[in-house]
Amino acid sequence: MPVGESNYISFLKIIYRGKIRLVPYLTPMKAKLIVHGGAWNIPESLEAAHLAGVRRAAQEAGALLAQGASALDTVEAAVNILEADSTFDAGRGAFLNERGEIELDAMIMDGRDLRFGAVAAVQNILHPVSLARRVMAHTEHCFLVGGGAQDFARKAGIAEVDPRELLTERERVYYEQIRHDPDFHTRLPFDDHPMDTVGAVALDGAGNLAAATSTGGTPRKLAGRVGDSPVVGAGAYADNHCGAVSATGWGESILKVLLSKTVCDLMATHSASEAARQGIERLARRVNGLGGVIGIDRHGEYAFAYNTPKMAFAYLRAPGEVVVSIKR
Ligand code: ASP
Repeated sequence: MPVGESNYISFLKIIYRGKIRLVPYLTPMKAKLIVHGGAWNIPESLEAAHLAGVRRAAQEAGALLAQGASALDTVEAAVNILEADSTFDAGRGAFLNERGEIELDAMIMDGRDLRFGAVAAVQNILHPVSLARRVMAHTEHCFLVGGGAQDFARKAGIAEVDPRELLTERERVYYEQIRHDPDFHTRLPFDDHPMDTVGAVALDGAGNLAAATSTGGTPRKLAGRVGDSPVVGAGAYADNHCGAVSATGWGESILKVLLSKTVCDLMATHSASEAARQGIERLARRVNGLGGVIGIDRHGEYAFAYNTPKMAFAYLRAPGEVVVSIKR
């Protein structure tokens, strides 16, 4: 079997004539997928919906991956499923900003050549991650915001929806509760209210990595506020040379430590799980941050870590076999 994009070299430890020797052998690359649905204090009453949502995304996008879909197509498909699910703070079900409006952010990144597309503060799009992908594929730019992003969506033929279709009764009621609360502060909901940004990371059969993240941001955010999710290296990062990561949590802290890029860099020299652990440790130590990451390194090892009470996530253990988790 030649060393190619679809396999990599592993080493078997054997004892030969009393000495430890490392024997190289080729391991076929198996397609991998991990998705998340936010890292916060998810109340028990909402656990089942979160687990069902991430399971479905992993199962359905995982089936595409098994049929030969690229990592990029797979993460877009997984995030589309989560954006359409009103359980999560992305697409339908997003939080309202201080004006009572929805503003959505998303990005997608291709680990082959570090190309990425991102959009921020878009208002009437159900699938901002697909708009981000069009920015990557069909413009000479990486990041479009607000009205310009909306104009481009129209030209790119992305369906616009009435913003009322994205609004859920749950978020309308929550907005009414907090809109005049003088003690409300952006960090607060990260401790006691579920926050449900979504993300996905995949490794395809050709050994290519991709990552995507999509969010409605934080409740009662200032109009025009952009968090970590669409910012390259903060909300997501993918590089075939080390790994791919999607982050979730308090955006103002994740931005400061460029959490996804930090974890990818650590993957170059550490195991995937150690890289994720150290990234979250840095988030907490340097900026008193709160959040979680999911990832896959270039060898196909999964990574997940969080310092919030819970994080909803799901990954493919074997073709068709999905593992879901919400707390340690
Ligand atoms: N990181 C997102 C933001 O700050 C929120 C989240 O992950 O739940 O916009």
